Amino acid sequence: VNFRKWETSKVKTTCPHCGTGCQVNLLVKNNVIVGAEPANGPANKNMLCVKGKFASYKFVASGDRLQTPLIKREGKFEEASWDEALELVSKKFKYLKNNYGPDSLAGFSCSRSTNEDNFIFEKMVRTAFGSNNVDNCARVCHSASVHGLANTLGSGAMTNTIEDITTDVDVIMLVGSNPTEAHPVIGLQIRQAVQNGTKLIVVDPRKIDLVKNSELHLQVKAGTNVAFANGIMNVILNEGLEDEKFIQERTEGYEELKELVADYTPDVVAKICEIEEEDLIRAARLYANAKKAPIIYCLGVTEHSTGTKGVMSMSNMAMLVGKLGRPGCGVNPLRGQNNVQGACDMGCSPFDFPDYQKVANEKIRQKFKKAWQTPLSSNTGMTSTQVLPAATKGDVKGLYIFGEDPVVTDPDVSHVRDALKKLDFLVVQELFMTETAKYADVVLPGAAFAEKDGTFTNTERRIQRIRKAVDAPGAAREDYKVFCDIASKMGYPMHYEHPSEIMDEIAYLVPNFAGVNYKRLKQENGLQWPCKSLDDPGTPIMHVGEFARGKGLFKAIPYQPAQELPDNKYPYLMSTGRMLYHYNTRSMTGRTPGINEISNKSYIEVNAESATQLGINHGDKVKVSSRRGSIETFAKVGDRVREDSVFMTFHFQDGNVNEITNAVYDDIAIIPEYKVCAVSIEPLKNK
Ligand code: SF4
Repeated sequence: VNFRKWETSKVKTTCPHCGTGCQVNLLVKNNVIVGAEPANGPANKNMLCVKGKFASYKFVASGDRLQTPLIKREGKFEEASWDEALELVSKKFKYLKNNYGPDSLAGFSCSRSTNEDNFIFEKMVRTAFGSNNVDNCARVCHSASVHGLANTLGSGAMTNTIEDITTDVDVIMLVGSNPTEAHPVIGLQIRQAVQNGTKLIVVDPRKIDLVKNSELHLQVKAGTNVAFANGIMNVILNEGLEDEKFIQERTEGYEELKELVADYTPDVVAKICEIEEEDLIRAARLYANAKKAPIIYCLGVTEHSTGTKGVMSMSNMAMLVGKLGRPGCGVNPLRGQNNVQGACDMGCSPFDFPDYQKVANEKIRQKFKKAWQTPLSSNTGMTSTQVLPAATKGDVKGLYIFGEDPVVTDPDVSHVRDALKKLDFLVVQELFMTETAKYADVVLPGAAFAEKDGTFTNTERRIQRIRKAVDAPGAAREDYKVFCDIASKMGYPMHYEHPSEIMDEIAYLVPNFAGVNYKRLKQENGLQWPCKSLDDPGTPIMHVGEFARGKGLFKAIPYQPAQELPDNKYPYLMSTGRMLYHYNTRSMTGRTPGINEISNKSYIEVNAESATQLGINHGDKVKVSSRRGSIETFAKVGDRVREDSVFMTFHFQDGNVNEITNAVYDDIAIIPEYKVCAVSIEPLKNK
C-alpha cells in the first residue's frame, strides 16, 4: 500500500515478538498496517530491534492467513461455517469427556496471545473440559524459572526491572543468555551500561557478541551451570565475602548449602566446567564486591535436565551476597515470548490457577469453584510434555492446541507426530496452516495481535495494552470468543462483551492483579504486578524487606552431568538457540520479505579447528546426526563455539534441529534438555 505519513493513523501497541515488551506505533491506512515505528515505553525507551521495526506487522496481512474454519474430511480440509465447526468441536469433546473421562482431554495455550485469551482458555479447560490438563510453551523454555524461583524466593518472575538492572550497576553477571539476538533492545541497554562503566561477566559456552564488551568470559562447558554457581559460592565463602546479616535475617537452609559448596573448590569446578581457576575466582570477587550487581539469565540455565536446579543456583548466589530486594541487583530471567510471563500468570499450567494459586490446595479450589460456579477437578493435571506421551498410549484422546506448533518446536519431533496421529480428535486454532495444524481434524482461524484488544505481560512483570489496529481477515475471530462459544456449547456458558471485562474478572480472582484495570493501564503506561489495590502503583523491585515466601530458601544442589554426553560415535555437544533475525518457528518473521532475504536457511556453528579435522569449509552442506536421526544443514565455521561443541538455531523447518534433540526432562519442571545432546557431523559436499 502506498501511503504518505499524514494519511495514516497511529495505534500504540506492544511488539508481538520477545518478552522485552517494546512499545510500538502501528501506522494504519484503510484497514492495512503500512508501517511500524518505536513508541516510548518503560522497557524500550523509544528503541525497537529489527524484528519490532520490520517483522511486527507484515505477517498480519500475509496472503496465507487462515480465513475460515476448516474441517478435515477423508484426509482433506474443507471450508466450513463457524456454526458447523463449533458444533463439531463441542460435540466431539463432549463425547470424549463422557466416554473416557475429563482427563482424556487437554489444551495447550498460546504464550504469544493475550492475558485475556489465556485466562479464558484455561478457564474453558478447567470448567467445560473438567480437567487440569492445561499448559503453555513455558514448559519448554522457562518452566524451570517458574518452579525454581517460586521454590527459593516465593515468586517465579524477574525480581527487578530492565531499566534498574541496566542503569548505574557496577557488575552484570550474564549467565546462559544472548540478549543481543534473543532480546535485542535489552542487549542494547546492556551495551550502553558497559559504555557507562558497568563490568560485564559473560558465562556462556559460546562467544556471544557481548563477549566483546565483557570484562570476563567464562566459556563453561554446556550443562555445568550448577557446578559453576557452587564454585562461585565456594570462593565467596572462602574469602569471607558473604553477607552474614542478610543470611541470618532473611534466609534459611544456609548451613546445608555451606557444607555442600565446600567441596566445589576452584580446582574441582575449573575441571568440571573446563575453565581457568583464576577466572572463576575473579568472577566471584567481582560479583560479590560490587554494590549493585544483577544476575541476568535465560534458556542456557533453564533448558537442561537440571534446569530447575540451575535456576535455584542463581538464587543461591544472589542470596549469599544479599543481592536481592535491592535496586540494581536480583535474579532476572529474560522471558522469551512476548506473553509467556502472562500465560503462566494466567494459570495455563496443570498445577496452578491464575497467579500460581495451587490447584492442589482445597481452599483455592473452593474459591474458584465459588467464582466460576461449577465443580473443579482435584486431579493433578499433565504438563504438555506429559500429554503427548499419554496421547501415544491412548490415555489422552482429545487435544486443543491454541497457537502452538509442537511438531516443530518440541524435542525429538518424530514422537510428537506419532502422538498427534494417535489422537481421536485434534483442534488447532491458528493464524496459519502450521506443521501441527496439518494433523488437526478441525482448524479454527484466530486473530493476530493487531486485530484485537488485550494485554501482554513482559519479562519484568509489566502488564501493557495491545490495541486493535485492523480487522481480522475473512471469518477469523478474536480467540477468547471462540473459547467462550465452545465452553457454552459444552454446557458451561461464558460470555464477555470486551477483554476489559475479562481483566476485571482476573483482578477479582488474582491478588497480584487486584489493582489492574484498562483505565489505569492507559493512564499509567502499564503496571507491574504485584499490584494489589487501586492505589498500589505496582512493584518494580520484588522481595524488598521480605521474600514472597517469607524467608529466602538456600538449596544445596550437587552437580549432575547432562543426560547425553559425547562419545566416539557422537563426539560433539550440541546446543540450540535463537538468532537475531528470526523468531521461533518463523511463522511471523518468515513472512517478512526483507528479513527473509538476509536470513533464510538453517546453519550449524562449528569451531574452525573441528571443521579442519572434519574437512568442512564455511558454507558447506553437512549432515548432523544424533541417536534420534539425521538432518542436513550448512556449516558456519568460526570461533563462536568451543572445539568440542556445535550450535544450531531452531527456526528452520528444512533441517529442523528438533528432529534430533533429546527428549529427556528436568524432573521438577519437566523441561526438555535442548541445550545438550551428542551429535556427529559429516561433510556432504562431494555426495
Ligand atoms: Fe520486539 Fe523484542 Fe525487538 Fe523489542 S527487543 S522490538 S520486544 S523483538
